[in-house]
Amino acid sequence: MKHPIVKSISVSTVLVPINPPHRTASGVVDKSPLVLIDIHCSGGLVGHAIVFTYTPVALKPMAELILGFHGLIAGQPLAPKSQYEYLQARTRLIGSQGMVGMALAGIDMALWDALARHQEVPLFRLLGGEPQAIKAYGGTGFDGELETARQAEKWVKAGYTGVKAKIGYPTVAEDVKVVRAMRAAVGPDVDLMVDYNQSLQTVDAIERLRHLDNEGLLWIEEPVLAHDYANSARVKEAINTPIQSGENWWGPADMSLALAADASDFVMPDVMKIGGVTGWLKAVSLAEAAGKQVSSHLWPELSAQLLAVGATSHRLEYVDWWMDVIETPLTIKHGMTVLNDDVKGAGIAWNNDNVERYRV
Ligand SMILES: [Mg+2]
Repeated sequence: MKHPIVKSISVSTVLVPINPPHRTASGVVDKSPLVLIDIHCSGGLVGHAIVFTYTPVALKPMAELILGFHGLIAGQPLAPKSQYEYLQARTRLIGSQGMVGMALAGIDMALWDALARHQEVPLFRLLGGEPQAIKAYGGTGFDGELETARQAEKWVKAGYTGVKAKIGYPTVAEDVKVVRAMRAAVGPDVDLMVDYNQSLQTVDAIERLRHLDNEGLLWIEEPVLAHDYANSARVKEAINTPIQSGENWWGPADMSLALAADASDFVMPDVMKIGGVTGWLKAVSLAEAAGKQVSSHLWPELSAQLLAVGATSHRLEYVDWWMDVIETPLTIKHGMTVLNDDVKGAGIAWNNDNVERYRV
């Protein structure tokens, strides 16, 4: 089999509706702005990946930015690890955070997908893993006491053994009420987590989290700014419930800083912000060496495969926001991820009808 050569990049931009809209302490998300990447290689091989731009404003610039990297990968042999290092070196001056980092991560994810497809194996096999099943959890938004409890119950009825709620209401009493309403709805055996989406100040966070410290939560996520590692560590030291963070860390370098500061008990890198598959592997190696349990953020299909390769894999964050544009969305059975050898690559191929429907 001749080794593939990277030929070209093409992109589609879509706005996929989220029903119901997702409310957080930092705003409402009602559509997912996605850049769908196809990297075309010799022999008709195509690798796919998704870049999530959070805001529709960034959709078009992101698509152009990704296409702009064409000249740096076209004509090269397909080698995601080498291409990652090369692209990082070529973007050292502008820096590989923010939009540049997201674009490079998208390219990296698509290159790995192509390589696994070329080898005709799922990505987890290419990376030396097994179809390890991971506990998945569902999420509820910033929806108030009754609706949060109702959503939590719905997840548990669907077989999930964990639910995470957005909190950060005007008073701590409201936060406690939401947590207790969820607990009453799902019973004692379900893992409950809460997420502040970086909305608290350190001193307030310590005070507030003390009121939640005896609620049996599996973790409290991003109480303070994600890059304020020192204050995140202060909060972590002040309370007993584990602190979770990581979805906003850029690249393995941020993981390294967070671990050095001991900023959180658990880590949950986002496969895009952490630098694609290559960035994930580097960052997670650091986390594993530090004895931290690793969960994922968004990207359920790809994350299920990456967690299957990990030594300290913890939980998969399940979201169905993008499943309309994916041909075969991830299967969850009895609250666990299901992987098998039928899936080739990273588990991403397009539902072309829906891509056309949501195209912008
Ligand atoms: Mg979060």
